[in-house]
Amino acid sequence: MDLAAARQRVEELRRLIEEHNYRYYVLDQPSISDREYDDLMQELLALEEAYPELRTPDSPSQRVGGAPREEFNQVRHPQVLLSLNDAFNEGDLLEFDRRVRGLAGRPVEYVIEAKIDGLAVALTYRDGLFTLGATRGDGQVGEEVTANLRTIPALPLRLRRPLPFLVVRGEVYMPKVAFTALNAAREEAGEPLFANPRNAAAGSLRQLDPKITASRSLSLFVYQVISLTGAEVASQAGALDFLAELGFPVNPYRVVAPDIQAVLEEVKSWTPERRASLPYEIDGLVIKVNDLGLHPVLGATAKAPRWAMAYKFPAEQAAARVEGIILRVGRTGVLTPTAVLTPVRLAGTTVSRATLHNEDYIREKDIRIGDTVIVQKAGDIIPEVVAVLPERRTGSEEVFTMPERCPACGAAVVRPPGEAAHRCTGGLACPAQVLEGIIHFASRGAMDIQGLGPAIVAQLLEAGLIHDAADLYYLKEEDLLKLERFGRQSAGNLLAAIAASKKQPLERLLFALGIRNVGQRAARVLADHFGSLDKLAAATLEELTALPDIGPRIAESIREFFTEPRNRAVLEKLKKAGVRLEAEDAGTPAGPLTGKTFVLTGTLLGMTRQEAEELITRAGGKVSSSVSRKTDYVVAGDKPGSKYERARELGVPVIDADGLRQLLRR
Ligand code: NAD
Repeated sequence: MDLAAARQRVEELRRLIEEHNYRYYVLDQPSISDREYDDLMQELLALEEAYPELRTPDSPSQRVGGAPREEFNQVRHPQVLLSLNDAFNEGDLLEFDRRVRGLAGRPVEYVIEAKIDGLAVALTYRDGLFTLGATRGDGQVGEEVTANLRTIPALPLRLRRPLPFLVVRGEVYMPKVAFTALNAAREEAGEPLFANPRNAAAGSLRQLDPKITASRSLSLFVYQVISLTGAEVASQAGALDFLAELGFPVNPYRVVAPDIQAVLEEVKSWTPERRASLPYEIDGLVIKVNDLGLHPVLGATAKAPRWAMAYKFPAEQAAARVEGIILRVGRTGVLTPTAVLTPVRLAGTTVSRATLHNEDYIREKDIRIGDTVIVQKAGDIIPEVVAVLPERRTGSEEVFTMPERCPACGAAVVRPPGEAAHRCTGGLACPAQVLEGIIHFASRGAMDIQGLGPAIVAQLLEAGLIHDAADLYYLKEEDLLKLERFGRQSAGNLLAAIAASKKQPLERLLFALGIRNVGQRAARVLADHFGSLDKLAAATLEELTALPDIGPRIAESIREFFTEPRNRAVLEKLKKAGVRLEAEDAGTPAGPLTGKTFVLTGTLLGMTRQEAEELITRAGGKVSSSVSRKTDYVVAGDKPGSKYERARELGVPVIDADGLRQLLRR
């Protein structure tokens, strides 16, 4: 390539990368995969290396992130929040180590951390109180999102030690389950899906309405001290421990490696299975020089520090043949096309289905039945088709079109204006919608009817024994005995489980009803505020939108649900059957922990502080902030504070998260 050709390609690459940066950082809607983006960036870096005369300070290779969105107040960071340089293989890591040792003039120790796939934020604490939170933005200037950050339960609003001034950096992320649930809800609502948990986290945090952020189940890991007065930290590993002591959520995975060989060993231990087993997405590991005294010596480029390196995991992709495209009719009638694949191994699991999202997606990628395609785990969760291999076509491939009639009920299929989804218009007359609706009603987070799985619901519907969820409460033993696979005992068990579900709290019932856009959190808010189904049914749009977590869309769905006569009929039947339609008595609920007082300290294993508090209060217990003789139990996690000592002094029993779970089971 001569200089002129290189110049042309460099300009082309910069234009493309800028465009993708805008889509990714500003709109949270990337149109290419991270791997494709990284390839463009690597090509640009290689050309700028080969032709230094083409380097410019405004090249995207020299800049961090994207411009902050104008709708937010802008915050200038006290210290630039940089990105990280990428390593894709062992060679890159060895080269990093060679440079570091060269500049340091001695061997160095490293800390390995998980590279959380979220978005970076800077959190400021004054006199121990959280006062300001901002996104990374372009590194110099970020978006002020303090109110939104306050809604994240993992974020400490007050430090355990009142330091005069502290700025930390961390990563806001969306757990895998929350991401899957959010996209499922968006799919049902015909809204565009988030490409991966990172974009979902960024889109959720950068909301003008903190209520929306609050409804999105975001979480946080903190990993860097940026500015500190009143204490000192000397190493990165020490800083992480210090942050945990202050009450920040710090990722439990952190390994000190004496040299680069130990780093390489550790990197190898990250199999796809290990990565897949985490409840949140990580896209690599971050390798940092442990001695903080060396950081200023090593310095930084315009884009990234020289004391750290991001090792990115290889993208897990595989080729598979599309054997067919099937349609799943969801509980609100959305038709989701799914590719049936020849089974392939991918990121530690066997994959035989991949979501195709909607018709536009199939058209854009030109996916045909019979095609060989590349599948990838998007955010390592849902497999999706990223590209077709047209050279493998034989000419016998078939183009897929959405049917005009619902495959389950024959009702017309429509694509509402502005939506990407096709919907069946059959409503409660569509057996697929009814089936999915009843499965949801009985599911664990809803009425939790043990033993009533999808197969039995389908059997009951087929036999004409039920037509909607309320009919479950009118089933009799002789009905069930007529069915295949039911004996006296299994019938008795199922009827008992159905009867027991009548006592489920109102919030569960509200969620179980499957009101569009009403998730578990909204259901809880509604149950707490209205206290009865009748009061909720009578609520106006204004009353509804005045509540935290309830936006106009949810409010409208609620109104629509209660005006539909068929839904009213179902509610009437539920009432007659004796299903609880009112919240439990106000005050402390009775449960296995009634009368017991708990104090929490340290990072609990497998649950957040807020979750633990909720579990205890729901079971009738009380949570107090200080230990006294009246305390029944201290629940201590990792790195407990002085409360643990106090409990020992007073002889108060100390249990861990498992101990708490055991008490709850009694
Ligand atoms: P990055 O995501 O590659 O790495 C840097 C970031 O890692 C830091 O900003 C920090 O937020 C995060 N991080 C997580 N855990 C950390 C830890 N323990 N210690 C330190 N940092 C930690 O870099 P970036 O600048 O945030 O984003 C660039 C990347 O974004 C690209 O490589 C690409 O993957 C993706 N991207 C994709 C598109 C697209 O169109 N698909 C567009 C732009 C960017």
